Amino acid sequence: MRKEATAVSQPAQLHRVDGHLWDSVKKATFVLGSGLFFFAAFRNSVTWHFQRFWGASGDFWQTLWGMLYNYFGGNEWVLFFLGTMIIPTAVFWAFNGILMFADTTGKPSFITRYRIQVDKNNPVDPAKLRQAVKKVLFNQLFLSVPMVIVMYPVMKWRGNPCGPELPTFHWVLLEFFVFGLIEEVLFYYSHRLFHHPAIYRYVHKVHHEWTAPIGVVSLYAHPLEHILANMLPPIVGPVLMGSHVATTMLWFCMALLTTTISHCGYHLPFLPSPEFHDFHHLKFNQCFGVLGVLDRLHGTDAIFKTTKANERHILLLNFTPLSESVPDPPKQKK
Ligand SMILES: [Zn+2]
Ligand SMILES: [Zn+2]
Repeated sequence: MRKEATAVSQPAQLHRVDGHLWDSVKKATFVLGSGLFFFAAFRNSVTWHFQRFWGASGDFWQTLWGMLYNYFGGNEWVLFFLGTMIIPTAVFWAFNGILMFADTTGKPSFITRYRIQVDKNNPVDPAKLRQAVKKVLFNQLFLSVPMVIVMYPVMKWRGNPCGPELPTFHWVLLEFFVFGLIEEVLFYYSHRLFHHPAIYRYVHKVHHEWTAPIGVVSLYAHPLEHILANMLPPIVGPVLMGSHVATTMLWFCMALLTTTISHCGYHLPFLPSPEFHDFHHLKFNQCFGVLGVLDRLHGTDAIFKTTKANERHILLLNFTPLSESVPDPPKQKK
């Protein structure tokens, strides 16, 4: 009897899946079709506005770069150090300053109500925070600075990093695409290697002392990890592409801001979702990459995909915290 029942229900289920798929195809065709229609209708005026905007802002950045170049008397080494070290580091600490204020005081509540691991770091342990800040400063001063010093002659050999002319907007977009891919590959595999049971406890264990990370923990790591997994993946792209220092500066700022966001422990509105890497700190053997492309390929996001954290892994476009709109299932009593 039971066998027959499944035999009947299977085609019905298949039919439902088919119907669902068909609905999705219809919806996708409608959205794409109407999108194409409007794009075709407004294409000329859109491109015109776009070019005008980038033309004007391109001139603005070019003038600014010229002023900066003259201000430092054409000293390219100073310009290079400013762009690859001073400005990205200042941006990192400015953003982390705000986050650390929220972590230690619980204010402003506008930020803290978006906490991912709701019961953690509320407030953060001051001694643990001090230790983290010290280690990050050590890594920046004694590892990042020497690496940038070595990077300079390599970039000079590769091209003209402080040349008078800035690259075009489209070229910068292409460079960022290449940088992102290179970073994903290098970070994913070096990170997975650091999780190998034979070496995990010697190096990467330090970074994982924080199972509920905060922003500044993004650079809290063993020196070897700081060089191989934190610094090299974002440096290789600009070196390979022979990028202008302005592009490298933007890229370093972006890389530091995104890694801070992915560790900050708050899923804030209109910012990239930190759920993926937060889950890595919680579970260790999932979600190794930055973009998630290689995790999908290697199946290292399989458990993550079944969790509420995955449902919350979206760009939050309203002000309701995702811990409220997608709550965890109630904990089972042991
Ligand atoms: Zn991490
Ligand atoms: Zn890890």
